[in-house]
Formats: sequence, structure tokens, C-alpha cells
Amino acid sequence: MKIGVLALQGAVAEHMRSLERAGAEAVAVKRTDQLDELHGIVIPGGESTTIGKLMRKYGFMNAIRDFAAQGKPVFGTCAGLIVLADKIDGQEEAHLALMNMTVARNAFGRQRESFETELDVKGLDAPLRAVFIRAPLIKEVGDGVDVLSTHNGEIVTARQGHLLACSYHPELTDDYALHAYFLSMAKDVVGTN
Ligand code: GLN
Repeated sequence: MKIGVLALQGAVAEHMRSLERAGAEAVAVKRTDQLDELHGIVIPGGESTTIGKLMRKYGFMNAIRDFAAQGKPVFGTCAGLIVLADKIDGQEEAHLALMNMTVARNAFGRQRESFETELDVKGLDAPLRAVFIRAPLIKEVGDGVDVLSTHNGEIVTARQGHLLACSYHPELTDDYALHAYFLSMAKDVVGTN
């Protein structure tokens, strides 16, 4: 299985390492024509405004919407979650607007800019080690969105069919269970074709 990591800005190499540990072939994606050969794509953490601008500049908005419309899985982590959401609290414009949810940016407060914790995630066998860095949270989910985990009552992992999103950085620890979960979503799609 070939899984891409959008390589315009952000934590690309770490995602590629976790995907490879989970058994995927990882590809750094810099051009839209690379999407054709992929079974799934990760939109990494970084800074969502910058990632959004670069995605517009290089034609990724429509290209990833088309990719998702073919039923191919997309996984947004941290800034990537913001890019997937159809509503960003306090902002006029969303980015890809593929997932039916409202997100709030930098939502965990200044004193807790960065922390690591263990999360129970629906579908994973063991608690997941997760690193939160100026993390967003999911304020509200709409129809079709399944909440996979919460932290102190706030939604931090969600899935809508073939779309997966988390507030944190699952790629900054040795725990690649969520990458393996995403890989199994991509395998399910191939299996049904
Ligand atoms: N705070 C960043 C944003 O709003 C996201 C942080 C991250 O990806 N670690 O884009």
C-alpha cells in the first residue's frame, strides 16, 4: 500500500517513518500528479493557514477533494485536522471542508501549549501515546462523524467514513497504532474495489 504525506510544510518525515513501521510504502507528496498512485494521504501538523495557502497555490484543494471523492482515505493530524474541517471557529473560510465538524484552533490554552498523554481510541487495542502541540479541538461533530476519542471531555479523534482526523501528533512517538488503523482503512477500500 502506498500512502502519501503532503509535503508542503510540517511534520512530514515523522509521518513517513510511522507509516513505514505500520507496513506501508510512504511517499512525500509535493505535486498533485503524485496522487494517482496513492491509496491514502496524510495531511500533517504544522500551521494550517500556511498549509492552506500552499495547497491553494499548488492545486491541492481540488486534487485532494477529487481524491477523497473517489473514496480514498485522508488522514489529517493537528493542522491537518483543521484543513479537513468544514468550519473553523472564528474564521470565515475553511480549507478542504470535507469533514462535517467545527474545530477551534489553539484550543488547549497557553499554559498547556504542549503535553503528552495516553488516549483510549475506539478501534485501537491499547491506549495511544499522543503529543499535543498548540492543538486544535473538535467543538462539534455533525451527521456521519464518529467520535473515536476524547481528552478531558473534548473531542480529539474523529472519523467520517474514509476520513480520519486527530488533534494531536501521533507521529512523534514510537506508537504507530493510529497509522496502522489508517492503513487498514486504505486496505478496506482496495479490498472493496
Ligand atoms: N496551531 C496550529 C494551527 O492552528 C496547529 C498546530 C500543530 O499542527 N501542531 O494551524
